[in-house]
Order: sequence, then structure tokens, then C-alpha cells
Amino acid sequence: MSKKLIYLDNAATTKTAPEVVEAMLPYFTENYGNPSSVYEFAGISKKAVTESREIIAGALGADQSEIYFTAGGSEADNWALKAAAEAYKSKGRHIITTKIEHHAILHTCEYLEKQGYEVTYLDVDETGIVKMDQLKKAVRPDTILISVMFANNEIGTVQPVKEIGEIAKEKGILFHTDAVQAFGQLPINVDEYHIDMLSSSAHKLNGPKGIGFLYIRKGVKIRSFVHGGAQERKRRAGTENVPGIVGFGAAVKRAMETMEERTRKEQELRDHLIDRVLKEVPYVRLNGHRTKRLPNNTNFSFQFIEGESLLIMLDMEGICGSSGSACTSGSLDPSHVLLAIGLPHEIAHGSLRLTLSDETTMEDIDYTVEAIKKIVERLRSMSPLYEDFIKKSAR
Ligand SMILES: *Cc1c(COP(=O)(O)O)cnc(C)c1O
Repeated sequence: MSKKLIYLDNAATTKTAPEVVEAMLPYFTENYGNPSSVYEFAGISKKAVTESREIIAGALGADQSEIYFTAGGSEADNWALKAAAEAYKSKGRHIITTKIEHHAILHTCEYLEKQGYEVTYLDVDETGIVKMDQLKKAVRPDTILISVMFANNEIGTVQPVKEIGEIAKEKGILFHTDAVQAFGQLPINVDEYHIDMLSSSAHKLNGPKGIGFLYIRKGVKIRSFVHGGAQERKRRAGTENVPGIVGFGAAVKRAMETMEERTRKEQELRDHLIDRVLKEVPYVRLNGHRTKRLPNNTNFSFQFIEGESLLIMLDMEGICGSSGSACTSGSLDPSHVLLAIGLPHEIAHGSLRLTLSDETTMEDIDYTVEAIKKIVERLRSMSPLYEDFIKKSAR
């Protein structure tokens, strides 16, 4: 590709790392056996699946028997909620979650509401952090599950997961966290944080698309998600995605080995981007928490601007960003996350998410800031709202 490409949409998906692809390749070509078969040749596939499971479990402080592979983060979220709801319905039918979850959680909750479950959607403060007093008050005798994401995919806010886990544990309620954005970027230990279930997806941490897992703590009652063969200890049938699983293991190994240095570098560039935009562009705000945020996440709202126009013009400069989450893009409703942190519709519409990778350079960031400055000025010069505002403030 000759055109310049500055990819700043790593919250939507990431590049599969070359060493991950390399680890996967033999499982398409020479080692194609079905892990369930009995002969020695298939044993190679079976062993590779087990090794990946061990790498992943080790990264979370879990046991390998607690890792269940799925076809991605959305499936893991669906499974966690639907299966816990069914398995614990004799105890109650009340679930607590937040207003800023990914749609894989929110739409599953809507489905469960139609099945007769009651869901409390917690508010967040203006930085996107769950209101703990509200959480404590929301707990009822019939509450069976608390599901709060580890870190938000749009504004990057990291939740006080340990405190939430402690409350859940104290009240004897299951705690699920969607860690799709956090796993590989932040250290996570399921025991320390009292996590009972955790969702993850490989393509958000330089692994392949279409493979994820659900961690389920030993002793948690859970129903099978896909019925059929005996794979994944009879809980999720279907021949294993062996290359995907191998790639996921390789991606997690890489993420754990590089975490400290990689996230330090990303954070430095992130802060440089934030500082420059806030200083050099007028009428802009940073969404999310200044420090309790993912090391690679930035999210801005530019007044008097349509996020979609900004995105299109950035694209013409070779810069890939997002105006919300990938699922919100293309629809005209402003992001539910930005509304939940209290942004008015017109401000939420002018939002831009830029998410970095370990390949992002200082040069990329400076080029991007210059492009933003130029585009924002141009778009505002065409905006009657901005013209009005300037006239009024001149008076
Ligand atoms: C991407 C994402 C998902 C969905 O994962 P898929 O593997 O794409 O299905 C769920 N939750 C969060 C927070 C995400 O960022």
C-alpha cells in the first residue's frame, strides 16, 4: 500500500502480530488433526490446545481447567450472562450491570429482561467510573450476578474492579467482568480481584479474530452454551479452532512478556496526544478519566463538529480513527457511553476515539495532531453554529 496509513483504531481490532501468525501456520498445514481423535497425529493438535490454555490461565492466575474457548468476546459475554441467569434462577432473577457496557452485554441484558429477569443499570460519574454507593444499594437478596466491564472500549476508563469484586464476594453474588479491552494491557489476577467469570477476545491483543474465552471459576454453576460433542469439558461443543487457539496463546504470551515496556511507551504517546490536542485545539474536551484509563486510549469531543465528518477527513489524510465504538459508527444515535458520562447530544456527536498500538510513533502522533487542527478549523469555518457562537462571544 503506497498511501500513508496511521492506524489509530486499536480498540476496534489490532494487527495480528507476525510471531502469532507464524505460531498458527503449522496448525493449518501439517498439524491439522482433530484434537478429539485418538491417534498420535491428532495428539499434536490436542497438546497445542492444552499449551495455549495453560498460557492463558497462567496470565490470569487461574487453572487451565477454568478456561473455555469461544468464538470471541461477544460469545463469552452472552454465555456468562445467559448461563448464569439460568443456573441461578432459583436464587433470584436480578442482575446488576452498568450503562456503559459493550452491546454484547447490554443487548444480552435486554434479552434477559424479556425472559423475566430484572436488570439494574448503574450510572457512572463524569469520568466513567461506576458509582460504588449506588452499586451497594442496588444489591438485593435475589441478585444473582454483577457484570461490570474491566475497562471501557470507548473512553478507556478502568473500573475499581477489586472493590466491586469484594462487594460481590461479601454478598455471595457472582461477579463477571468483560475484560476484552483490559486483558493484555493491564495485569489481572482473578483471585486478587474476586472475579468469577471473565470474557476476553484475541483480536484485541494482536491475536486472530474469531477466538475468545470465558474464564469460569471452579465451582460456579454454569450451563453449556453450545450443545453437541464433548469439547471444552462438555460446555461448549464444536471442533476446536486449533489455529485460533494457538494464536491466542501466542498473543497472550507476547502481551505478558511485553506488557510493561509496551504500555509505558503507549502511555507516553497517549499523554503527548492528549496534551497537544487540549492545548492546541480550542473548544475540545477529553472524555474519560485522566489517569484511570487504558494506556492506549484517547477520546475527545470537539464542539461545533460532526464526528463523522472529522473521521472522513482524517481518513483522507490516511488516519484511521473511530467516532464511538465500531457498532455505534454508522448509526446516528450518539454513543450510549458518552451520554452516560453526561455529554449533551450535540457534544457527543463531535467525538473522536484514537487508540494507539506499540507500533505507533511520536511522528504519527504529531502528524495526527496537525491533521486534527487543520480539519477542525476547516469544519468549524463551515459551521453556522460556530459562526453564531463566535459572533455572540465577540459582543
Ligand atoms: C470488542 C469487544 C467485545 C466483543 O468482542 P468480539 O471478539 O469482537 O466479539 C466485547 N466487549 C468489549 C469491551 C469489546 O471491546
